[in-house]
Amino acid sequence: MTLHSRPTATPTLPRPDCANRAWARAAIAQLQGDARRSADTHLVKPVFPGLRGIDVYLKDESTHPTGSLKHRLARSLVLYGICNGFIGPQTTLVEASSGSTAVSEAYFARLLGLPFVAVMPRSTSRQKVAEIERFGGRCHFVDRACDVYGAAEAIATQTGGHYLDQFTYAERATDWRGNNNIAESIFTQMEQELHPIPDWVVMSAGTGGTSATLGRYIRYRNLCTQLCVVDVENSAFYDCYQSGDRCITKPTGSRIEGIGRPRVEPSFLPSVVDHMIRLPDAASIAAARVLSDMIFRRVGASTGTNFLGLCCIAAEMMQQGRAGSLVTIICDSGTRYSDTYFDDDWLAAQGLDIAPHADGLHRFLETGEWRLPFGPAGLT
Ligand SMILES: *Cc1c(COP(=O)(O)O)cnc(C)c1O
Repeated sequence: MTLHSRPTATPTLPRPDCANRAWARAAIAQLQGDARRSADTHLVKPVFPGLRGIDVYLKDESTHPTGSLKHRLARSLVLYGICNGFIGPQTTLVEASSGSTAVSEAYFARLLGLPFVAVMPRSTSRQKVAEIERFGGRCHFVDRACDVYGAAEAIATQTGGHYLDQFTYAERATDWRGNNNIAESIFTQMEQELHPIPDWVVMSAGTGGTSATLGRYIRYRNLCTQLCVVDVENSAFYDCYQSGDRCITKPTGSRIEGIGRPRVEPSFLPSVVDHMIRLPDAASIAAARVLSDMIFRRVGASTGTNFLGLCCIAAEMMQQGRAGSLVTIICDSGTRYSDTYFDDDWLAAQGLDIAPHADGLHRFLETGEWRLPFGPAGLT
């Protein structure tokens, strides 16, 4: 045997899986291309005469190609799945969702030529279901919000697919240090403003992923901005924040699509949250309508929650005679909810009376006097 002759025995090291690697490389290029072709989302600055000394900024995530902040998350979750070796050229993608994430994931599944199944509560808006199906996704409905997780896992097992599991992976699939994540984008867009470091950033929680990214980024960049998370009725997050108990459950399900969860989701990180407020659902919906009137286009109910949370903080800052800037997020457009939050018959059927909240908020934004039927500390 010469030095250079090849061994005839079967090699112990596997050959490189070139076909799969080539697929992954092409798939990653598709995902990067989607990001490269997209402009940054707007940071809009509406003026409210009552909010003296307080500059309000709204990061408008409704203008992504799939209509919500979940465009960023879906891209990250699919990339995470490919780079971890969970997603290959034949993988069925499965997700548990209240709708927005599934719309965005259906878009990326189609981009990569992969089958997609969304598991959603039956109450999910008709428009979101239509959008998922338009992207070639299949919708599977469950009766109770707390049943989405088990059903999604079962479908992933049956199909040999991959459960994207936004509620677990949102916080880690997003690059929290930067890479133009939502936090880096907001703070960069704020740089030349009168109060470039916001006093507070206000955000609701669905997966908790966005608040995790914001809170981590604030610490990483050593900013003195504080993070307020706003919760809704029938959600486990607020009670978890107050008590530290991650086992709390609220099986009824949230009426505000996209936020408020029946369990404390793994992606919710209370350690980076400085303050929490819980608001009545009727007030969130009223705020979505009032804000829609003021910026001349419809926003979804979770944006109402965010905006009303921001108003609570603005009220306290004004009371203390403080000036500064506040930022929150337009999560999606209200056009998805024309037969729910923007339909008076639907509100009546739900037993929701938004009028006192809407009137009070209008007065607050015009005069700065807090006239809502609950204090700026929210429901306690
Ligand atoms: C997901 C979602 C949220 C909450 O964002 P998270 O990062 O998941 O906490 C708010 N509004 C809408 C419409 C959403 O889809």
